[in-house]
Amino acid sequence: MSTTGRYTITAALPYTNGPIHIGHLAGVYVPADIYSRYLRMTGNDVAFICGSDEHGAAIPMRAKKEGVSPQVIIDKYHQIIKQSFHDFGISFDNYSRTSAAVHHETASDFFKKLYNDGKFIEETSEQLYDPEAEQFLADRFVIGTCPKCGHEEAYGDQCEKCGSSLNATDLINPKSTISGSEPILKQTKHWFLPLDQYEDFLKEWVLVGHKKDWKTNVYGQIKSWIDDGLRPRAVTRDLDWGIPVPVAGAEGKVLYVWFDAPIGYISSTKEWAEREGKDWEPYWKDKNTKLVHFIGKDNIVFHCIIFPSMLKAEGSYILPENVPANEFLNLEGNKLSTSKNWAVWLHEYLEEFPDKQDVLRYALTANAPETKDNDFTWKDFQARNNNELVAIFGNFINRVIVLTNKYYNGIVPSPSTFSEIDQKVLAELKAYPAVIASSIDRYRFREASQELLNVARLGNKYLADEEPWKLVKTDEERTKTIMYVALQIASALATLSEPFLPFTSTKLKSMLNIGLEGTVATEWNAIATTEVLLPSSHQIEKGTLLFSKIEDTEIQKQLDKLEATKKANEAENKVVEPQKETATFEDFTKLDIRVGTIIEAEKMPKAKKLLVLKVNTGINIRTIVSGIAEHFSPEEIVGKKVTVLVNLAPRKLRGVESEGMILMTETPEGKLVFLNPDEDNVSPGAIVS
Ligand SMILES: [Zn+2]
Repeated sequence: MSTTGRYTITAALPYTNGPIHIGHLAGVYVPADIYSRYLRMTGNDVAFICGSDEHGAAIPMRAKKEGVSPQVIIDKYHQIIKQSFHDFGISFDNYSRTSAAVHHETASDFFKKLYNDGKFIEETSEQLYDPEAEQFLADRFVIGTCPKCGHEEAYGDQCEKCGSSLNATDLINPKSTISGSEPILKQTKHWFLPLDQYEDFLKEWVLVGHKKDWKTNVYGQIKSWIDDGLRPRAVTRDLDWGIPVPVAGAEGKVLYVWFDAPIGYISSTKEWAEREGKDWEPYWKDKNTKLVHFIGKDNIVFHCIIFPSMLKAEGSYILPENVPANEFLNLEGNKLSTSKNWAVWLHEYLEEFPDKQDVLRYALTANAPETKDNDFTWKDFQARNNNELVAIFGNFINRVIVLTNKYYNGIVPSPSTFSEIDQKVLAELKAYPAVIASSIDRYRFREASQELLNVARLGNKYLADEEPWKLVKTDEERTKTIMYVALQIASALATLSEPFLPFTSTKLKSMLNIGLEGTVATEWNAIATTEVLLPSSHQIEKGTLLFSKIEDTEIQKQLDKLEATKKANEAENKVVEPQKETATFEDFTKLDIRVGTIIEAEKMPKAKKLLVLKVNTGINIRTIVSGIAEHFSPEEIVGKKVTVLVNLAPRKLRGVESEGMILMTETPEGKLVFLNPDEDNVSPGAIVS
C-alpha cells in the first residue's frame, strides 16, 4: 500500500469542440478519479487537476463554419463538459480552462523563461499562405494530395487515409480550406524546441529509469519515437487564435497548442491553490511530489517526450512519476467518433439514466482498455448491472439491511463466540484493502474493480452458507453473530467501494448510518487494523435498493439510437452522381413540366414493376406507364399530386402507349418517392428522373 505523500494527478485536458463520450471516460477520467479518490482515502495530499483545452485550430475552423466567434464554441462545450464531469462524480480539485487569464500568463511566462535561457532555435522558412484570407495555412487549414498514398484530401499535418504525419508544404496541389484558393509560399519566422537535444535525457529518464514500472504499451511507443530520432518541433505558429507569442517581432503568431495545453495543468493547479489558500509550487517542484498523467494512447508522445523535455528545459519542475495511458475503447465494434456521432455522450447518458452514474463507471472500469483496445456494448453494460451490481453487490446489502431491521429493529447485535468460518471470513475481509490497493497502485483498475466485487461475493457466500433466515427460528445467539459478521462486511464495502462507486458508497453509508463526523471510522486502512467496524448497538437506517435491474427495452432504445446514427452516416457517405453536361436555358425550356393528379392506377398485367396511371395534367387526362409498382400500391397513390414531364415523346410499353413521365427521386434506402424533397427523406444530390 502506498505511503502517505503528495500527489499531483492530471487528466488529459478535453478539447472543447465536442462533449465527453465513454471513450474519454474509460481511457482517462474514470481511472484518474478512482486513483485520486483512493489516494485521498489513504491519507495522501492530492491535487486532481484538469481543464478545457481551448486553443486547437479546429475551434476557429468550426466557428467559421457555424458563423459564430470561437468564444461561442468554447463557452458552449466548456460548460457542457464541466457540468457532465461534475454530475458523473469526477472529483477534480480544479477544472479550469486554457482561455483563463492565469493560463495565458503562466504559458507566456514559461515561454519567456525558455526564450531568455536560449532554449529555442529560431528558423525562417517558407510556409503556405492564403493571400485571399491573409493567413498562413497550417494543419487543418490546408488540404491537398498526400505525397505518400495519393489521398486527395490529406490535411496539412496528417493524412487520415494512410496515417502519415505530414508538413503542409509536402502536400501536392494544396488548397486553402478557408477560401478555397491556391496558397503561395511566404517567409515566416518561428521558434522551435530542439527535441533532438533531449534524446540522451529521455533515454536515461524513461528508457532506463522507467523500463520496469511503466506500462509496456506506453514504454513501447516512447521507445519507437526515440529510436526513430527526434527533430526540432515548432512551438509557435501563424494563427489568430491562441496565446500571443510574448516577445517582440512575433506579431500575428501564437503559441502552438501542444506547447500551451500541458502548461494548462500547471495553471489549473495555480488557480486551485489560490482559491484554497495554498502554495502551488510544491505540487510541481518538490521532488517528493508524485506527478501522474492520465491520458489516452494518442497523447503519449506529448506527455512522455515533449512535455517532459519542456519541463527539463525550464529546469525547476519535477517529471512525471508515471503516465498510465490506456488504449482505445470502441463502441459496438466500431471506432468512437465525435464527427460521426458514433458515441455514447456523457451528458445524454446522465439524462437517460439518471442515478445510474455508478453503473457506467463500473461497466467502463470492469471492461477498461488497459492493455488492448476494448469494445463497449450495451448488452455487456446491462449484464454488468444485472448480473454483478444487482445480483451480487445489491443483493448482499439488501439482505443484511432487511434482516437487521427485521430481527433487531436496525440495531447491530452483539456477537457471541466466532466460529472458525466467521474468523476465516473476517480475516479475509481484513486482507481486501491491501489486495485492492495493490491493483490500484499498479494502475490495474479493472482487476481492482473485480476484487471489490469479491468482497460482496464473500458476504453473499457467507450468508448463503450460514442461512441466518433459517437459524433465527432455532438459534438466536448464533444468528446474532452471523448478522454481526455480515454487517462488518457491509461496512467495509461502504468504504472500499468509494473510489469506484462513489454514489453507491454515499447511499450505503447513510443506510448504515456511518461516515458522519464522530461516528464509525471509514478510512481505507482502518478496515485492516480496526477490530470492530460497526459496533454492537449501533443503529442503522431502513434500506433502499442500491441498484435496480435494467430492462431489455432500455437497452434496445440505445441500440436503436445507434442504428439511426449508422443509417444517417451511410446516407451522408453515399456517393453522389457527378453532374451531367451543361444544359443551355434553351435546352431547359424545351421541357414542359406540369403538376398533375393521379386519378386512376392499376397494375400492368404480368409486369412486376409497372403501374398504368390515368393522370389529369390540366391539359388533358392521359395514360402514363410508370415503373413504381414495387414502391407503391395502386390504392395509395390515387389522388396524389405529382410532377409530370408532359412533352416526352410517347412510347409503347407492353403494348400500352405512355404519354409522359412522372418525376421521381430515391431515398438513401433505395425507395422511390414522388418529387417532394422537403417532406421525404431525400439527400442532397439525389437525381430527379
Ligand atoms: Zn496518405
